[in-house]
Amino acid sequence: MVRPRGRRDHRQVAVSGWRLPQREVSTSNYRDRGHPPILTCVLSVRGLQVSYGGSVRAVRDISVEVPESGIVAVLGSNGAGKTTLLRAVSGCLRGVGGRIDAGTIEFCGHRLNGRSPAAIVGAGVVQAPEGRQVFTRLTVDENLRIGAFGRKDRAEKARTRARVHELFPILHDRRHERAGLLSGGQQQMLAIGRALMAAPRLLLLDEPSLGLAPQVVTQIGHVVRAINEQGTAVLLVEQNAAMALGVAARAVVLTVGSVSLSGTADDLARDERVRELYLGGAASPPRVDGQLAGVGGAGARLDRWVR
Ligand code: ATP
Repeated sequence: MVRPRGRRDHRQVAVSGWRLPQREVSTSNYRDRGHPPILTCVLSVRGLQVSYGGSVRAVRDISVEVPESGIVAVLGSNGAGKTTLLRAVSGCLRGVGGRIDAGTIEFCGHRLNGRSPAAIVGAGVVQAPEGRQVFTRLTVDENLRIGAFGRKDRAEKARTRARVHELFPILHDRRHERAGLLSGGQQQMLAIGRALMAAPRLLLLDEPSLGLAPQVVTQIGHVVRAINEQGTAVLLVEQNAAMALGVAARAVVLTVGSVSLSGTADDLARDERVRELYLGGAASPPRVDGQLAGVGGAGARLDRWVR
């Protein structure tokens, strides 16, 4: 199909009451000249500042962008502000005494600042929280159904569940069992599956590898990539830098609430400071394909990065 030259496609998509413009830049002429396609951003965070209780400045200055269908990793040591960044994007600061003091958060060109967590989920931004937080007394299936709570269309929900089962066959096999009986890795899969049930366009993952065995971390890395290949953008917060840099296209490093480094995952994996502090001094960058690198020994949990 030949598109009229230079015309933008402003198709509207209804997402739970919001009408979001599907941001697509006409790239036909550009592509014809052999250039890569232009990526538009689903998420754009600019100059973010966040404090808790009016006094603890947790985020001082963070700017980060997630391109359509991209994976961006956020690295940093304990207390660097990674979780706070995700809370700000998902609208969950108020419940823990936090607030945005400055900066903007835009999703598909729409401002998220001040919106409720439910409205943000409805718009297509869904978080799988740190520590899984599955409902241990409910069954695996009930946990998944909770994830789709805001969606009306039964057939769509059934299709999403089938997709989640395809991604995590164990969640199908154990669908009638209590979630509390699953292993840590299986609970992490359930937490990601529950988030996927809301049909996110942007998935926020907070430390999915936390406390998991190396093989399970590798599996989680493959799953993150598979989710992304199916069209969902991912903002991946991780202390396991090897896994994160193995799956992400771009990454930022946070140091005491600010972005201290940013670039492509490959460049950061080659950066001496990142290698020394986050990759356990590995001589070679993590491998991106095949066996995801890293997972054993790498991704050390380090103290604050003093530059
Ligand atoms: P971790 O990897 O340990 O989770 P993080 O990079 O995710 O660290 P945050 O949890 O965002 O860091 O914390 C950033 C700063 O904000 C820390 O100094 C932390 O103590 C503080 N903080 C986080 N949550 C709260 C809260 N609810 N009330 C007060 N201070 C908080």
